[in-house]
Amino acid sequence: MKPAPFRYAAPRSVGEALALLQEYGPKAKVLAGGQSLVPLLHMRLARPEVLVDINRIRALAYIRRRDDRLHIGALTRQRAVEASATVRRHVPLLWEAIRSVGHPQIRNRGTVGGSLAHADPAAELPAVVAALDAELVVAGPEGERVLSPEEFFTGYLTTALQPTELLVEIRFPPPGEGTGSAFVEVARRQGDFALVGVAAVLQRRDGAIGQARLAFTGVGPGPVRAREAERLLQGETATPRLFAQAAREASTRLEPPDDIHATAQYRRDLAAVLAHRALEAAWQRSRGRRR
Ligand SMILES: Cc1cc2nc3c(=O)[nH]c(=O)nc-3n(C[C@H](O)[C@H](O)[C@H](O)COP(=O)(O)OP(=O)(O)OC[C@H]3O[C@@H](n4cnc5c(N)ncnc54)[C@H](O)[C@@H]3O)c2cc1C
Repeated sequence: MKPAPFRYAAPRSVGEALALLQEYGPKAKVLAGGQSLVPLLHMRLARPEVLVDINRIRALAYIRRRDDRLHIGALTRQRAVEASATVRRHVPLLWEAIRSVGHPQIRNRGTVGGSLAHADPAAELPAVVAALDAELVVAGPEGERVLSPEEFFTGYLTTALQPTELLVEIRFPPPGEGTGSAFVEVARRQGDFALVGVAAVLQRRDGAIGQARLAFTGVGPGPVRAREAERLLQGETATPRLFAQAAREASTRLEPPDDIHATAQYRRDLAAVLAHRALEAAWQRSRGRRR
């Protein structure tokens, strides 16, 4: 099938793009890497009147360190993140996870902002931003607003983005001394969306676990933070038993989907195994080993 007819606009600045979005509102759709939107257009599941192609807005593609934080422009290709020594050094969790997004061809076109705005329930990047408490910067007619992952992801393939808004930047806080992270997932084939994925971040404090963060993908309508499991870990001495207990605690609270790819019970069991592995790996890495 071919897309339904649409008008095409290619703004060169964020201001121009916002003006178009304001003019057309819900009749417009933003085109970034097109890796999710173009199939939807072909299947006529999306039928925008106007396509606002943001690929010419060069000012939206960058990876920068500022005030200790890593700022990534929404139009930055996933492949640029994967190839960035700065990302690998300062946000190793993002670097590790992005290599599981599709195939190199997908990552050459797909953007960081596109993946977050699309909010696929099995995507890697939403779980990463959730685990790192990253900030999502959204530009709209009234200026910019900065959202937490909890505010940004509102449901299945749904975010807090309004039709008149653009996601423009993602800001990652510094990992902090003694922090280790790990992303692990299981997919049926290399490059497939994850059946379950887990992002773990542990900060070592005086030999024990200081801060702990755990987020899942593939087990709910969006990324799922395991707050109870995090509380169980914080302030405790790290042992394999504790990690197993926290992983079980996290997995029993999940309400994963039951679909043609896997049953809910399979996903829950898998989540426990992967969370345990991710916590062990994050703890090992908190000793200073770099990914
Ligand atoms: C074969 C295949 C395998 C894939 N495997 C995976 C995988 O394993 N894991 C994974 O996470 N993804 C996977 N993807 C999806 C891929 O990562 C996409 O690149 C991503 O989901 C969308 O990014 P994009 O830049 O292509 O956005 P587009 O497809 O251009 O847009 C997606 C949606 O986001 C909106 N949008 C895009 N940018 C912005 C913005 N800056 N502000 C506001 N709205 C915006 C668009 O309007 C659209 O609704 C796969 C895709 C394919 C085709």
